[in-house]
Amino acid sequence: MSERYYRSTLVNVDLEAIHHNYKVIQGRHPDKTFIAVVKANGYGLGSNTVAGYLADRGVSYFAVATLDEAIDLRMHGTKEKILVLGRIDPEDINKAIQHRVAVTAADLEWVREAISNVNDTYEKEVWIHIKVNTGMNRYGTKDVAEIRAMIEEINSFDRFIYEGIFSHLTSADEDRGITEQEIEAFRGIVEQVERPRYIHIQNSAGALCYDVDFCNAIRIGISLYGYYPSPETKAATDIRLKPSIELTARVAAVHQLSPGDAVSYGRTYTAGEEETVATLPIGYADGFIRKRSGYEIEVGGAQCPVVGRVCMDAIMVRVPGDTKVGDHACIISNDPDSPQSMDEYSAYVDTIPYESLTLLARRIPRQYA
Ligand code: PLP
Repeated sequence: MSERYYRSTLVNVDLEAIHHNYKVIQGRHPDKTFIAVVKANGYGLGSNTVAGYLADRGVSYFAVATLDEAIDLRMHGTKEKILVLGRIDPEDINKAIQHRVAVTAADLEWVREAISNVNDTYEKEVWIHIKVNTGMNRYGTKDVAEIRAMIEEINSFDRFIYEGIFSHLTSADEDRGITEQEIEAFRGIVEQVERPRYIHIQNSAGALCYDVDFCNAIRIGISLYGYYPSPETKAATDIRLKPSIELTARVAAVHQLSPGDAVSYGRTYTAGEEETVATLPIGYADGFIRKRSGYEIEVGGAQCPVVGRVCMDAIMVRVPGDTKVGDHACIISNDPDSPQSMDEYSAYVDTIPYESLTLLARRIPRQYA
């Protein structure tokens, strides 16, 4: 709360809510290593702050999508283990070694190329997690012979450590039958190869709704931040998450309109009577996309629709006549039952909390409480 920002639009991040979510999910899987997924700037909440906060509360493993994200965490003080879930270029393996980052091997060719690129600049090892394809068809292999060959190559090179094997579920938030098939496919492969230190397939929906006894780690993103991957997941679990963000702003200008007066670019909205519109300093460059015209924002307790086109840096909302400059506006609420809940905010433009969160632009300050 100590920092001063020069714009009223803020993402307020409730770190205690994140702690609560970590505890309830870890509590369901007490024997599994909790891998906190903080890719995409911690789903938009600020990866360095979130990782630092969770590391202080016992999280020992973090995951990101890219090597750049891993290096950024290291540069900002994360000392815990970090796994890069996506593909790094085999030529960049020495960067992973330098920053003590674990990486994903998705095929045999990658393992061979990475080995051939290792040089002696940093005389350290690198941890490898093998990616198994159980239906996503994004990264990884399902060929047991190839996986065995990858393990053999890794084990025969003294700078590589075979640390993990993992897969990713396609539909854990919506289809039990498919998810059970994918988990069984992974089990079948794991049973045929050498077992490493970490075996993991569960994402948030996987951890909220499934046990998976042969795995010993979970990779949790969206639910760490307090959101269910889907309404089906929310209905299927008794774990109660706490939404961790609020998106707020203050009224920056107020205009009284007469019938026929228009609002914003293209004059697409025209007042039908005497109306008051308030300008809020948030626009599509902040992730409040143009399709959100019509979305209702809470201003001074009233539900106020966005009227006219969304601008790059501002929107106009139709408000009660007594609205004043400086009045508080809630764009996303941390109350899951509010009309501005993350689910309502996402549904308005036919998207999911993952996209809503990661669209929130970096120029909106994150304020932590
Ligand atoms: N693991 C992998 C490979 C992912 O790509 C993701 C997110 O997309 C996660 C784990 C975390 O998923 P969730 O945010 O649903 O927990």
